[in-house]
Amino acid sequence: MSLQDQFTFEAQTPLPGLPFATVQAEILARAAQFDLPVVTNTDQETQIATDYGNYSFLLRDGVAHVQVGSSRADWLYVLKESLSDTIAELAPEVGAAMAWSDAQEQAGRRPPNFQFITIREVTQIAGGFLRVVADAEDLSQFTPDAIHFRLAMPDADLSTPQWPYLSDTGLTVWPKGEALLHRPVYTVRDMDAATGRLVFDIFEHDGGRTTEWARRAQPGSQIGLTGPGGGGIPQTTAIRIYADETGFPAVARILADLPAQARGQVVLEHTHPSSTGYPLPEHPGFSVTHRTADPDQNLGALAITDLDDTPGPDLDQMIWLAAEKAAAQTLRAHLKAAGVDSKKHYVAAYWTRPAAGGLES
Ligand SMILES: Cc1cc2nc3c(=O)[nH]c(=O)nc-3n(C[C@H](O)[C@H](O)[C@H](O)COP(=O)(O)OP(=O)(O)OC[C@H]3O[C@@H](n4cnc5c(N)ncnc54)[C@H](O)[C@@H]3O)c2cc1C
Repeated sequence: MSLQDQFTFEAQTPLPGLPFATVQAEILARAAQFDLPVVTNTDQETQIATDYGNYSFLLRDGVAHVQVGSSRADWLYVLKESLSDTIAELAPEVGAAMAWSDAQEQAGRRPPNFQFITIREVTQIAGGFLRVVADAEDLSQFTPDAIHFRLAMPDADLSTPQWPYLSDTGLTVWPKGEALLHRPVYTVRDMDAATGRLVFDIFEHDGGRTTEWARRAQPGSQIGLTGPGGGGIPQTTAIRIYADETGFPAVARILADLPAQARGQVVLEHTHPSSTGYPLPEHPGFSVTHRTADPDQNLGALAITDLDDTPGPDLDQMIWLAAEKAAAQTLRAHLKAAGVDSKKHYVAAYWTRPAAGGLES
């Protein structure tokens, strides 16, 4: 069945100069990597399904084309953007020549997954966090499973902020130079889609631009938000969780949303002593332990020692880690070497410590 018949929103673009076989091989490899179902695979078409909609890669008159279909306009945009990035990586000149069929009618508009949020209040909460309560324009795309977003913040000294818009080929044009937007990722701590009320918690750390912004933010001020994106509530009833402060809001969401029969352990790492006070919901199936950050053993290394008695491929609990990049790399390398199924773990770098004497990556 064609994507037009399956989905309300659809767009397509030729991929001139990119051999169909190359596109097909790349897409099948990515489908395998991310466990995406392959709906159709012939020598003329490969169609894959995602949570947001489907991609169909077609050979028409000897030229590779891609068609994208989705039930929502903002999801269609996310799929198009992700594909544009993939093609630009694979063949930059083809990426630059892509022209989406719906681009002209949308040129100049803001990207469908971008909105403004208006600050209601910022309060200090226990644990060294600032809690932001804001009014969003539309939270309908934040399904219970979609808990992360990016802020889009102009430099505080900029008198006239600039915001992203869509080009006449359908790509997003982000402000550059002094108008560059800072776009850190945060977690929906609480929300009400009916009223647009959005709550998120910022771990205060020295030199953090978001910390600085939140300390100064006045009720009524506006910043941008894109999302949702990335990760969500793990679909499991057995899980071992490791997180430093940046992951505490996500841990809170997970404990609140996992079913009553779920069982597991939570290890919270404190880079700052006050963060032991961060409010977490109680879950009867979970024990929570705390530890102070240890420069000789990052959180990933700790998780590995905990796993030592559990042979990798037979892991009966999901492993979830959100912490500094080095901890994520340590654990990811171990799980890969042990052959642990990717569905059995979520390991994410939530922030990057600057290299000694160098700049943050
Ligand atoms: C999926 C996801 C969800 C996240 N959810 C949250 C959340 O809900 N709440 C939250 O507080 N964070 C969260 N984070 C982490 C947050 O995005 C990063 O900490 C980000 O760097 C913060 O940006 P900033 O503007 O504060 O710092 P920047 O201005 O970008 O960086 C300034 C300096 O601060 C350093 N830095 C960044 N984070 C820390 C830290 N935690 N401790 C010490 N130094 C740091 C940087 O290395 C840099 O040197 C999340 C990250 C991801 C990927």
